[in-house]
Amino acid sequence: MVRRYQYVGPASLREAARTQPAGAVMHSQHDLADWLRTCPTEQTVDGEWVATFVIDQQQQLLLAPRRSEHVACAQGGPVLSAGEMTFAAGPAVVAVSNQSTGFCPEPDSWPAVEGALDAIGVRHPGRFTTEVVFRLCEDCSQISIVKDDWYVCVVCDAELPRAWNFSRRKDGR
Ligand SMILES: [Zn+2]
Repeated sequence: MVRRYQYVGPASLREAARTQPAGAVMHSQHDLADWLRTCPTEQTVDGEWVATFVIDQQQQLLLAPRRSEHVACAQGGPVLSAGEMTFAAGPAVVAVSNQSTGFCPEPDSWPAVEGALDAIGVRHPGRFTTEVVFRLCEDCSQISIVKDDWYVCVVCDAELPRAWNFSRRKDGR
């Protein structure tokens, strides 16, 4: 089953995102090479590029400059996955995470990322190289990132559920 992730971040960011450009759809490896050549995204000292990505409902890869809001990149969403990607020359994906506090996708959303990259023939590591575990505090509504299996809210110390607990709504809502 493919999961669709709705935006779960602050409403103010979603509002602000309405006036920001959507991510660029990568239809091919050629599109990706062009985007990396022309887009002002961040480059590391090793000459690798880091970008914000989302996978849309058509399982397409969309990219935006690093630190762009995922909700803007996705034009509001929903998405099948979201996070950050690092590209080396080729171009190939050399690192990828599901780090998106806007959508809080599960590490289990990897197959959507893999499918999108395979469809345009871009090499990738075969997994999220950094897996982020998001939980919503059911007491204070803070979004926490769980580290080292420590399922405790950073704000109010409430215990966090073991299971992913953001809503997955149906389409069109
Ligand atoms: Zn809390």
